[in-house]
Amino acid sequence: MSETVRDGAVDLLLGGACVGCARPGRLLCPVCRGELPRGAAPAWPTPVPEGLVEPWAAASYEATVRAMVLGLKERRLLGLAAPLSRLLSAAVACELPRGSPVVLVPVPSRPRTVRARGHEPTHTITVLAGRQLRSGGFDVETRRLLRLRAGVLDQAGLDGAERAANLAGSMRDRPSSVRRLVRRRPHARVVICDDVLTTGSTAREAQRALEAAGLEVVRVATVAATRRRIGLV
Ligand SMILES: [Zn+2]
Repeated sequence: MSETVRDGAVDLLLGGACVGCARPGRLLCPVCRGELPRGAAPAWPTPVPEGLVEPWAAASYEATVRAMVLGLKERRLLGLAAPLSRLLSAAVACELPRGSPVVLVPVPSRPRTVRARGHEPTHTITVLAGRQLRSGGFDVETRRLLRLRAGVLDQAGLDGAERAANLAGSMRDRPSSVRRLVRRRPHARVVICDDVLTTGSTAREAQRALEAAGLEVVRVATVAATRRRIGLV
């Protein structure tokens, strides 16, 4: 039995359907999978948070990709983690100059949100993206170098100014993890990883915290960016 038939049979038994087109069977049918972008492009938000390093995204945050992000995040459809991580890998590596080692740092989620969801999707897809890139010959590893201070609100429902205020000073580095990294990889370049880029405030705050810890941040990489802010088609 082929993998496709087997996965389809399993998903049918479990009542699965493609998140992109609702066809019964796999969570992501071969047609929708085949239509996913393979590259990535710079995805500057408007306005650009001052000093933000270049953000790259693989897709616009709409249609199948949006359904995949929400499916993993809100419905815990773990089978979507691998295809999402391939999109993130493209955003990390597309046109990234070869050179010193790269460290992928996932944007931290609120502990309360992680507990409620029972998983941390951004961390999961970042780890998987790191594995894919390593198997493709990149010198890359994934490190949790950031944490959120208490009292940060969920960003959903906040406008751009409110998001920026909510996030100002909201992240801290994990000093022992940073020290370990700097000892082992003194010239590592950091790529901040997240699922969706909207205003860029979250990424900018992550960049601030990592730079305050003495690290070199070279890029933000996300699966998707909200369409009205970028030039992706
Ligand atoms: Zn489909």
